Amino acid sequence: MRNLILFGPPGAGKGTQSAFLVDHYNLVHLSTGDIFRANIKGETELGQLAKSYMDQGQLVPDDVTIKMLESEVNKHPDAAGFIFDGFPRTTAQAGALDAFLEGQGQTIASMLALEVPEAELKTRLLARAATSGRADDADPAVIQKRIDVYNAETAPVADHYRAAGKYQGIDGVGSIEDITGRLTTAIGA
Ligand code: AMP
Repeated sequence: MRNLILFGPPGAGKGTQSAFLVDHYNLVHLSTGDIFRANIKGETELGQLAKSYMDQGQLVPDDVTIKMLESEVNKHPDAAGFIFDGFPRTTAQAGALDAFLEGQGQTIASMLALEVPEAELKTRLLARAATSGRADDADPAVIQKRIDVYNAETAPVADHYRAAGKYQGIDGVGSIEDITGRLTTAIGA
């Protein structure tokens, strides 16, 4: 199995690049943000809870997020591997993911981290608001909160995988195709 983490701040291009990588490597794409949004649309209890955090640019609590992610992985027993997009976002989530995969005789092969300067992230997110319909993209204060939460709680997750020799930094500025090329070079055949 090939399990990859596509990592980076909000607006780094994780969703865009995942779409290509899942096809190219035949992987299952698990985006915790997408799953939460599907739950909000479906008006589930989980969606209602997630929305109260997402609207403010805050993280959904670890226990809820980890449980949801594990149950999504379990829905794909025949997967050739997963792309984790937007997860793990805290060191507690990273520890839980490592332990969960280890329990299945699996591991994370690589963390691919898209590196994009903060000013460009803000420009991209505001532009994306026009098409994403996401309330959290449209409000500069919520964008700033998401970037602050990323720097405080999520950036340390990179150190966790760096220490394990699994971190690969990827320049996330340029055309979509150029960045896809950098990712496939980093992942290999
Ligand atoms: P995203 O689509 O990855 O930008 O996520 C949108 C929002 O969903 C985030 O701002 C968080 O509120 C929530 N979310 C997504 N993934 C996670 C996660 N792994 N842990 C906690 N909250 C998350």
